[in-house]
Amino acid sequence: MDWDVVIVGAGLAGLSCGLELALKNKKVLLLEVDPVVGGRCSNWNENGMEVESGFHRFIGYYTALPALLKKAGVEVDEMVTWEEKIDVLIKGKNKKLVVGISPLMGPVKMLRGIFGNQDILTTKDKLSLVPFFIRGFKDYLLAPVKLDSYSVKEYANLHKVTDNALHYLLIPLSSGIFFLPPDRYSAYAFFGLFAPAVPKFYKMRNGAYLGGMTDVMCQPIADKIIELGGSIELGVNVTDVLTDEHGTVIGVKTESGEEYRGKHVVIAASLVGAKQILEKFKNEPSFQNLFKLPTMPAATLQIELTEPVLEKDITTFGPKTSLASFAEQSRTTFRRSNGRLSIILTPAEDFLMKSPDETLKIVVEDAKALGIHLEGKIKDYRQINHPADFYSLAPGVDPLRPTQATAITGLTLAGDYTRQPYFSTMEGAVVSGQRAAQLVEKALGEV
Ligand SMILES: Cc1cc2nc3c(=O)[nH]c(=O)nc-3n(C[C@H](O)[C@H](O)[C@H](O)COP(=O)(O)OP(=O)(O)OC[C@H]3O[C@@H](n4cnc5c(N)ncnc54)[C@H](O)[C@@H]3O)c2cc1C
Repeated sequence: MDWDVVIVGAGLAGLSCGLELALKNKKVLLLEVDPVVGGRCSNWNENGMEVESGFHRFIGYYTALPALLKKAGVEVDEMVTWEEKIDVLIKGKNKKLVVGISPLMGPVKMLRGIFGNQDILTTKDKLSLVPFFIRGFKDYLLAPVKLDSYSVKEYANLHKVTDNALHYLLIPLSSGIFFLPPDRYSAYAFFGLFAPAVPKFYKMRNGAYLGGMTDVMCQPIADKIIELGGSIELGVNVTDVLTDEHGTVIGVKTESGEEYRGKHVVIAASLVGAKQILEKFKNEPSFQNLFKLPTMPAATLQIELTEPVLEKDITTFGPKTSLASFAEQSRTTFRRSNGRLSIILTPAEDFLMKSPDETLKIVVEDAKALGIHLEGKIKDYRQINHPADFYSLAPGVDPLRPTQATAITGLTLAGDYTRQPYFSTMEGAVVSGQRAAQLVEKALGEV
């Protein structure tokens, strides 16, 4: 055995698993197919333009991710700049809804959000959300299966949420965050994503990255793993796991036929990658749910501009348009740009087959309807798609998520799709990696 642990995938799940194990003096090897570490939290140069996997926000109530970063020597307050509000631009009206999200850090903005914005959301609209949220959080705790049988839209209709409140608040909070329209988004996933914020409401705020996510977050974790004696190989496409005559996993095989052996293997690839690598277990009863777990796509458009097109680099939503959520980034993530817009598109499926030119045309028109004029300011653009990396947040899917532990000796899973309380988020990926590391440590102790 060459390594204590071979980890496939250097996204946040693989990196967190690798760092935890390297800190416990385990000999760790990470294999990553991409030329950079970070997976869905990465930045790179795409044919001459600096891009990212898609714009991300670091949520103030996360705890596992900041703790991991601390171990890698990264201070969160130096990595992000904090926002206490979000903007919702109203199509065709040249107006915006300003919603304070931070009761402690930005109480005035929060109160203004609740009591102001009357021209867009009336008191009746706002009050219609009260039973929706109270019953939603209650059902999340007490009746999760029932809640998971509803879409966000069905649950909103059930609780008589007004059309305005649905369009200008619930759509940004569903399609804007996870790209799925509210009629296809599980109410359980919706409330589950916000549930951890309830007891930690005082920590709520959004962090905008001060640099590309590989550069400021993932590479420092990778560097720490290497400093502790681990190794990371990039550009390695793992295609299969190796087993011995007892069916125990003893390593992995790559596309080029190389074999890497370890006492334990962690598959921390995204869902679609994990299904391909684990193909030989497809008929194992304990893997049935993993293979049935459906995926969903994400699509983004990133535009390099001659000047900033939004006043501030804050999270912005564009309900009733293709711009699910977006941010100007020239003062934060891409500071060498004169102007930079990073947009998450909805519905993602509609954009996967479109050429970047076609997507740009749609986005320019929709941006105009939101009061953002891009004409004459566009220098360059790239479309970055994630065709199947996420597990689907549709109703009824959650029970299919596998745990990190598997029935196969020598094999553990990590990744945001595996069972942990934070759904498809950076925090969820880190928690899954930490749980996998605990299982591996225990298994190695038993060898
Ligand atoms: C557009 C977008 C916006 C997002 N916004 C937010 C946000 O604001 N806040 C938030 O918390 N989360 C956000 N997320 C979610 C977050 O990025 C993910 O939950 C998290 O990065 C998942 O980490 P992971 O390690 O589980 O998976 P990944 O990051 O996908 O890592 C898996 C790694 O495995 C590698 N791999 C796959 N197959 C193989 C193979 N065969 N061989 C070797 N390597 C392989 C991949 O290249 C990848 O690096 C967003 C995601 C996207 C795409």
